[in-house]
Amino acid sequence: MHVSGEPSFRESVDLMFNRAVKLMDMSPGLEQKIRVCNSTYTVRFGVRLRGKIETFTGYRSVHSEHMEPVKGGIRYALSVNQNEVEALAALMTYKCALVETPFGGSKGGLCIDPRAWDEHELEQITRRFAYELIKRDLIHPAQNVPAPDMGTGEREMAWIADQYARMNTTDINAKACVTGKPPHAGGIQGRVEATGRGVQYGLREFFRYPEDVAKAKLSGSLDGKRIIVQGLGNVGYHAAKFLSEEDGCKVIAIIERDGALVNDAGLDIEDVRQWMNRHDGLMAGYPDAKHVADGAALLEEACDILIPAALEGVINMSNAARIKAPLIVEAANGPVTFGADEILRAKGVVIIPDMYANAGGVTVSYFEWVKNLSHIRFGRMQRRAEEARHILLVEELERLSKEKGVSWTMSPGFKDKYLRGAGELELVRSGLDDTMRTAYQAMREVWHGREDVEDLRVAAYIVSISRVAATYRSKGL
Ligand code: GLU
Repeated sequence: MHVSGEPSFRESVDLMFNRAVKLMDMSPGLEQKIRVCNSTYTVRFGVRLRGKIETFTGYRSVHSEHMEPVKGGIRYALSVNQNEVEALAALMTYKCALVETPFGGSKGGLCIDPRAWDEHELEQITRRFAYELIKRDLIHPAQNVPAPDMGTGEREMAWIADQYARMNTTDINAKACVTGKPPHAGGIQGRVEATGRGVQYGLREFFRYPEDVAKAKLSGSLDGKRIIVQGLGNVGYHAAKFLSEEDGCKVIAIIERDGALVNDAGLDIEDVRQWMNRHDGLMAGYPDAKHVADGAALLEEACDILIPAALEGVINMSNAARIKAPLIVEAANGPVTFGADEILRAKGVVIIPDMYANAGGVTVSYFEWVKNLSHIRFGRMQRRAEEARHILLVEELERLSKEKGVSWTMSPGFKDKYLRGAGELELVRSGLDDTMRTAYQAMREVWHGREDVEDLRVAAYIVSISRVAATYRSKGL
């Protein structure tokens, strides 16, 4: 979405970068080196489909190679363009630095309406696009590792991994060339839910600090908070589901491409999603909520937490002044433009920035990449050893109490839970939770520790940029 008078997405990211870097002590040369996008490869390729040759345009942009491989998703949408891919690649650099995944930033995109093609056609197109990128090492376990983004998912990643393996038959690490694969094809448990899970863990961490919550003119815990979610795709769906089912939040509205569903008592996310699956992705006609045709208007409705989880630029200079939510969580990349950010900051709105809020995806991608390189499932060696040690303790307690004649019983379910060693999914969630907490703490230290830092976005940029700068400096740049 591009509103006139508004900078482009790429310019918006640069302006945010500039705002932060002004507060840092960095040489103009290094500043420039970090800001610029190293390279963007454009490819046009033809695929014979439905009896004629169709030409597609794709991109893979590499923003920073201070660490390799570089990392970032591949987006399938008609709106994909070079400016967007470069902005998203830059955000990947900052995101990876903030959550300490050892990658540089990259992003890819293909101009395509994925709904216009059937599965077999999409496979042909994906394999051809992957072929073009693999040929140039723009997909490679040690150099550039894509992942899902809007319009792509496990299925596309499996095709890409297979295409790479076909072209690199002796590469023992071939599976690590892409993340977000299905578990049976080298993926990891918990990757699909990861970005939404990260939004939940990030919000939980935010609510652990009453003074931060107070800055958003809110109080108490997540319990009972009224949420509006924009986009019920993979990220929005999981975030809304977990926050409503596990943290007591009420999702009072969901905005989608065909309008919004509104229910003040809170929507049943699973039920809405199943309805959409049955009705071609449309919400209209859903029986347990009011359908509002002008979905975008709901962004301006009163609520406690607004979660834009779809496209960039949805909160812009044309609607920012009317936003009523005191807390915005950027589950999407770049949903708030630079201009809107200024307006919202002046109004005292707290924004949990994209590079933090949606970093759960790349965090679990990192775990998947490590799993692929180590060729072993997380927990396989430790799980039973952990269980055996717990059994030892419980049996000893039971023996002692019998011996001393003390009568006590453990609370129901305790033994079962305590005796169970952690499997891959639990380890992934634990690693993600730890990552989200640690990154939030790094951000808030800068936010509260420096007089000249007004907001979490600038704090996040300062943390990331200083880490990227430190890597460049130690390379002798
Ligand atoms: N596309 C996701 C993002 O924007 C995930 C990237 C990844 O896992 O590499 O963060």
